[in-house]
Amino acid sequence: MDRLIYLDHAATTAVRPEVVEAMLPYFTENYGNPSSVYKFSSLSKDAVSASRKVIADSLNTAAANIYFTAGGSESDNWAIKETARVYSSKGKHIITTKIEHHAVLHTTEFLEKNGFEVTYLNVDENGIIKLEDLKNAIRPDTILISIMFANNEIGSVQPIKEIGKIAKANGIIFHTDAVQAYGQMPIDVEDMNIDMLSASGHKLNGPKGVGFLYIRKGIKIRNLIHGGGQERARRAGTENVPGIVGLGKAVEIAVKTMEERTAHEKELRDYVIDRVLAEIPYTRLNGHRTERLANNINFSFQFIEGESLLIMLDMAGICGSSGSACTSGSLDPSHVLLAIGLPHEIAHGSLRLTLGYENTKEELDYVIDNLKEIVQRLRDMSPLYEDFMKKQK
Ligand SMILES: *Cc1c(COP(=O)(O)O)cnc(C)c1O
Repeated sequence: MDRLIYLDHAATTAVRPEVVEAMLPYFTENYGNPSSVYKFSSLSKDAVSASRKVIADSLNTAAANIYFTAGGSESDNWAIKETARVYSSKGKHIITTKIEHHAVLHTTEFLEKNGFEVTYLNVDENGIIKLEDLKNAIRPDTILISIMFANNEIGSVQPIKEIGKIAKANGIIFHTDAVQAYGQMPIDVEDMNIDMLSASGHKLNGPKGVGFLYIRKGIKIRNLIHGGGQERARRAGTENVPGIVGLGKAVEIAVKTMEERTAHEKELRDYVIDRVLAEIPYTRLNGHRTERLANNINFSFQFIEGESLLIMLDMAGICGSSGSACTSGSLDPSHVLLAIGLPHEIAHGSLRLTLGYENTKEELDYVIDNLKEIVQRLRDMSPLYEDFMKKQK
């Protein structure tokens, strides 16, 4: 099987050739340390500044509010841990949701072990929080609200602007993990009252191991990494210049192509959703039908195991996922699918397919054909399905 159909863009994406091209000189010719004083190093320094500016513009903020990091996980850790520590004199209560990425959830769990109290908001059956729940959760000692922009498993998009409004009205810092949303939808940190935002290069056709944290001017945050004076002395370590250049280029392209690219993805997404729901019985779509990322598809197929499905799709050259990359390999069903109310056995039979700009309708026809056949084959081997069919007669 030499065919490869990559449908796991929420896990990572290919770096665009233009991005690689932009990065290359910063490995070989322009290798100067941005902190050095001679003119040669200004080539690196200027490139870092240019990337910072592209990213700042994409969010409608100033370049000075963008801090480069080693990716989404680091940005989430930094934002949550180190603002919590600074503001702990004001209070020790944090609000987040049950469907966050583990980079957020494991960080808030760490803080709980260190004297903080965390409220994990429920989500509705579509994976969206209720604003009333958020308002009710706010206490005088609440110092931070961290709610993801869009979910990495079921693609649900939160009412970020309304959340920002509530946070602002209550004088609480609002952080959002926008790793999945950034580059997929317009984000304006002023209009949306976002105080901190995490993003990552490799989810938007940029390099792995580089991302950024946007921090609104005036927000106090401690350093996660102590050392030199890089990133206005807030995040030490010699800059990952090629990575930062690649991230900037990826963002520039993501912004420029956003409308056309997401329209293409949405068309393919809806095509797959409509056909699979119509052609494969006992299937449900997880996540909101419309308030979801343009590239996200998530089904549960009754009577089958997601892991077996993934293996058989893999044999047909199709890359999908049964949850987030971090949870695969464990037998627990996804915390996100449980949070939207799926029973364990349904959550186990789930499949996430996430699209990219390079996917075609022809590829998806091949995927749907295989999916129909594989789901039927797995069901034919399932005693649960056999029982169920007997009862139908
Ligand atoms: C991928 C992802 C992260 C982690 O980003 P890395 O750059 O891989 O560390 C965090 N949050 C969400 C929602 C993600 O999808």
